[in-house]
Amino acid sequence: MPGPYKRKKYHYGDTHLKKRWRTKRRKKDLDQINEDLKPEKAAELLDQEVDLDKPGDAQFYCLHCARYFIDEKAMKEHFRTKVHKRRLKALEAEPYTIEESERAAGHGSFVPAKKRKMETQKPIEGDDDMT
Ligand SMILES: [Zn+2]
Repeated sequence: MPGPYKRKKYHYGDTHLKKRWRTKRRKKDLDQINEDLKPEKAAELLDQEVDLDKPGDAQFYCLHCARYFIDEKAMKEHFRTKVHKRRLKALEAEPYTIEESERAAGHGSFVPAKKRKMETQKPIEGDDDMT
């Protein structure tokens, strides 16, 4: 008789498939981030209320990567990383709209996606207004 621990594994080596569905580490999709980049939304996200459940109490947030950081140093370091720069590039092309896909399908003239300038947000430095 085999020991009590023997259990046949039918789904061997498919853990990478399951990871996709783990919600805890789930990142925002690019189109969601695009929404977040609208000025009103962005201002809201960059000025969140203190949330003790979030890293750094939700005070250090990278808009483009939808990530929280524990402090300003960690956030600034993140801005210099490849992940962040790659993300800025990915966000530079405007998202597809229905109009655009219609143009691409031959209705109207094709206009290539506009490039927009992506800039890393300014670090929070007190309350200096432009006055
Ligand atoms: Zn970032």
